[in-house]
Amino acid sequence: MSADVIDGKAFAAGLKQDVARQVAVLKEKYDLTPGLAVVLVGEDPASQIYVRNKNKSTKESGMNGFEYRRDPDISEAELLGLVKKLNEDPLVHGILVQLPLPGHINEAAVIDAISPAKDVDGFHVINSGLLATGGQGLVPCTPLGCVMMLKGRLGNMSGLNAVIVGRSNIVGKPMAQLLLNENCTVTVAHSRTRNLDAVVRGADIVVAAVGVAELVKGSWIRDGATVIDVGINRIEKADGKTRLVGDVEYAEAVKHAGAITPVPGGVGPMTIAVLLKNTVTAACRQAGVEEPEI
Ligand code: NDP
Repeated sequence: MSADVIDGKAFAAGLKQDVARQVAVLKEKYDLTPGLAVVLVGEDPASQIYVRNKNKSTKESGMNGFEYRRDPDISEAELLGLVKKLNEDPLVHGILVQLPLPGHINEAAVIDAISPAKDVDGFHVINSGLLATGGQGLVPCTPLGCVMMLKGRLGNMSGLNAVIVGRSNIVGKPMAQLLLNENCTVTVAHSRTRNLDAVVRGADIVVAAVGVAELVKGSWIRDGATVIDVGINRIEKADGKTRLVGDVEYAEAVKHAGAITPVPGGVGPMTIAVLLKNTVTAACRQAGVEEPEI
């Protein structure tokens, strides 16, 4: 048996098209152009690539993209001042501060300074609280993209056993809330979990968000399970070159799973597409207009 590969690039391309259609309707009907501001502090190479891709995708969708690059020695007060300015800017509907920030800046303070209505990353404590209590906030992009792919594959997930490996605020915990909302029976595993293999073996849905290359072994995957691999790890090959692998041992898992996301080409592309979608949602709520159907 070989699993179906869940094509994140194709899902993302479809969602981006939907977003572009929504943006066209908003422009035509309400003269409203959603705007996304991305703030990049410093010169971290991975962050530079993410920010470039985000800006490209924002413009392709017809939205306004605003980029703010700041030196790594910017003070926390200056950065908070920039966030305040963006909170007050009516052309900006979504604000994303690229993480990680340099060590002298308190990340939590910066995230908390973003207006919850413009927090398209969904990391603000108000948005986490709304997600946990069933309210209408903005949801973190990566887990929301994972749920969209799971729904696309499985449809109704009610009653399925979902095991999430990882409990970070940006992936594991919101993923657990989203799958609870889908009526899954959710287990969240982490570094202190005992017998992780046995826990994963009970799962109809496995979401791996750990940051440890191939930690989840293929032999742990129940036959027919659906596997979402969030991890992005760069490992060195025998020839000295590097390659990206996920948190799941893909070559073995593919023999057991019913469906699985690859790395790269799985969760990663969806994250940016959902960011655009969140920006449309935020713009509609701020303007008090109905979000166009997709
Ligand atoms: P964090 O480092 O914040 O969290 C990792 C989690 O994994 C923690 O909860 C930790 O447990 C758990 N963990 C670590 N080691 C083990 C272990 N041996 N057994 C079980 N659990 C373990 O990572 P993130 O959630 O931010 O990211 C996870 C991965 O997803 C990374 O590879 C990251 O690059 C990737 N990622 C990909 C995105 C995308 O767009 N595709 C977006 C965001 C992240 P504990 O809490 O006990 O320490």
